[in-house]
Amino acid sequence: MPLTEHPDYGMVLIGVLTLAMAYVLLPRVYLQHQKRRLARLCRQRNAIAITFDDGPGRLLTLSVVQRLQQAQVPATFFLLGRNVRGNEDLVDVIRDRGHEIGSHGDEHVHHVYTLPWTGIVDTWQAWRRLRELTGRDAHTIAFRPPFGKLNLLSLAYVLWHRTPVVMWTHDSYDTRLGADLPPEALAEQLRKAGGGVVLLHDFDRSIADADKRVLAKLEAVLDLQREGYKFLRVSELLGLPAAPLAR
Ligand SMILES: [Zn+2]
Repeated sequence: MPLTEHPDYGMVLIGVLTLAMAYVLLPRVYLQHQKRRLARLCRQRNAIAITFDDGPGRLLTLSVVQRLQQAQVPATFFLLGRNVRGNEDLVDVIRDRGHEIGSHGDEHVHHVYTLPWTGIVDTWQAWRRLRELTGRDAHTIAFRPPFGKLNLLSLAYVLWHRTPVVMWTHDSYDTRLGADLPPEALAEQLRKAGGGVVLLHDFDRSIADADKRVLAKLEAVLDLQREGYKFLRVSELLGLPAAPLAR
């Protein structure tokens, strides 16, 4: 290159910025679309899907399963690989009671704030752990990205595997101490929306009364049974083949 010519730094900058935006924004658009689709499906079917993330946990999972069984309501548990280890018996209980198993990654990594390939590795690790446990392929089960985030590479990875990505429409705020949502307010939000996919958590927490708070929110959602709402596993809501890891 002659000394008088310089690379067009402006164009390089625009290229880098475009790539960076695509890396973050395209997955966000995709995930927002998934949320809207879930909301529409719930409204059309007058349905509620109860989902638990980040478990299983010794303190709460069994109580939750017991309460769901009393109410004869199925739910979906998006398991965290690291919490499956040592809690295999809890996974068996969840499956035995007819609930759906989904994957929530292995170490709960943020796909945007880590190295670009970390999300893929983490997703794969979780599938491997679930395959070891169940003897079946886990990439076709419902997947909820940790923090509800994907990057462009991890989005391509799950699309390539035809993995159903399942977000939520209603956060119960059961992990957010500063922004708690009273159980009645959660139920009211679901009523107004004509149903929804509710996000709760069943991992072990050290905060006093955290478990009571989760159970109170679950109770408020289960109360909506009396108002005619149908309770579905996420694969039923999405019309997917029966969850492959169900018993
Ligand atoms: Zn989570």
